[in-house]
Amino acid sequence: MTGRLVIAGLGPGADDLVTPQVSAALAEATDVVGYIPYVARVTPRPGLTLHPSDNRVERDRAAHALSMAAEGRRVVVVSSGDPGVFAMASAVFEALEGRAEWDGVQVEVLPGITAMLAAAARAGAPLGHDFCAINLSDNLKPWALIEKRLRLAAEADLAMAFYNPRSASRPEGFARALEVLREACGDARPMIFARAVSTPEEHLLTVPLTEARPEMADMRTVVILGNSATRVLRRAGGDVVYTPRSVPA
Ligand code: SAH
Repeated sequence: MTGRLVIAGLGPGADDLVTPQVSAALAEATDVVGYIPYVARVTPRPGLTLHPSDNRVERDRAAHALSMAAEGRRVVVVSSGDPGVFAMASAVFEALEGRAEWDGVQVEVLPGITAMLAAAARAGAPLGHDFCAINLSDNLKPWALIEKRLRLAAEADLAMAFYNPRSASRPEGFARALEVLREACGDARPMIFARAVSTPEEHLLTVPLTEARPEMADMRTVVILGNSATRVLRRAGGDVVYTPRSVPA
């Protein structure tokens, strides 16, 4: 074996939601590689070189990290949330495929708290029964496939978590997703818009699917849609959204 590469999840934002494993890896690192806002969350120190890069260069970023690791540097690739959820872990393995010179690099993935779980915890327990996660960005897949998955997930009565719901470059996608969901679900189940969870800008909004509007989401929002049994519990301290654990036979 020559070289070691760590792929770490920084969690949704709050320092105390970074796992001790990830903090230890960062404390030992000589180099940190990742998308600009994620690298900005790593505290600079002597002996640590930060390599922030723009979005959409995931393959190049992964290759850069692997070549530094192969040279013996202690490299950590950072993602927000969990690195295996719509993030860098897959990009690194894709970059590794067919590259014999990196066969000896030991790769370790350190989990993090992904956005949907941090958001679900804030809202109550909307993902307490079966659910799925769908990336609504059509950068890496055709829109028709997204629509198909939305319809099939609704048919299977899964709760759903939506990542990358809406960006300035594709404002119409989420509006279309809402239309498809309204048609496929046909009810007013709760939809949660959880923005910047665990940061000072955190904001949560729960509305019936029938009243959800595209402007309620942006790229810092993860959206959770319940299944047909998901309900809002009115409590003195504030509403709780939860999905019962069982489905009657
Ligand atoms: N690997 C990340 C997801 C990267 S995709 C993870 O596991 O969380 C980026 C998307 O994640 C954003 O568009 C948004 O939908 C979601 N996201 C990331 N951090 C978030 C946060 N603190 N609050 C709400 N959504 C967040």
